[in-house]
Amino acid sequence: MMMDEKDLQKFWSKVDKSAGDEGCWNWTAAKSRGYGRFVNQRKPKLCHRITYSLMVGDPSGKFVCHKCDNPACVNPKHLFLGSQSDNMADMAKKGRRKGKLIGEKHPLALVSDEVALEIKKATLSGDAARKIANQFGVSINTVTNIRRGKSYPHLPDFGYKPRIKPVSRFSEADKLNMVRLRATGKAYTEIAKLYGCSGWYAGVLVSKYNQKSVNE
Ligand SMILES: [Zn+2]
Repeated sequence: MMMDEKDLQKFWSKVDKSAGDEGCWNWTAAKSRGYGRFVNQRKPKLCHRITYSLMVGDPSGKFVCHKCDNPACVNPKHLFLGSQSDNMADMAKKGRRKGKLIGEKHPLALVSDEVALEIKKATLSGDAARKIANQFGVSINTVTNIRRGKSYPHLPDFGYKPRIKPVSRFSEADKLNMVRLRATGKAYTEIAKLYGCSGWYAGVLVSKYNQKSVNE
């Protein structure tokens, strides 16, 4: 990790050490899912990983876990290095998994947590899901699910905000409006543009809606 004097000064100015050497050192600036986040060399980094590498050693390829169960804490005395399974066991112990199988432990998981994290980071570059999917050899669906936190929700999201409304969230009113637009002769591609989905999906929604009304 490359941090110059200025970066270091900026970094430490955002750490609250008022609890003392043995207490939690809370990150006071930007967070992702509770974990402190710091942009260094234009790349978002997790703050507890930064302090671990500055004061203990390079954690690359390993998870840095919290003994104190406070994700915003960056005190290296409260951190330990673990494998993915340690991290999962640790989370399970602390009840953070809520009985759900998440991440690579999920039977349908296609990628490791490490890769999912890389995919999450890649979304920050603004690259299209298709490009990232090609890069990692996964489907576009896998990329969008990871981006939106539908899968691998335990990994930090680095502040990603979806630009378009997820298609599953269309209300009945939206669907009805799509049906009406279609009835007035609007092309599916035009309707799709209004709703930020694909023309194909607009077509599916409209025909499903029509089918439902026929059956009722
Ligand atoms: Zn702590």
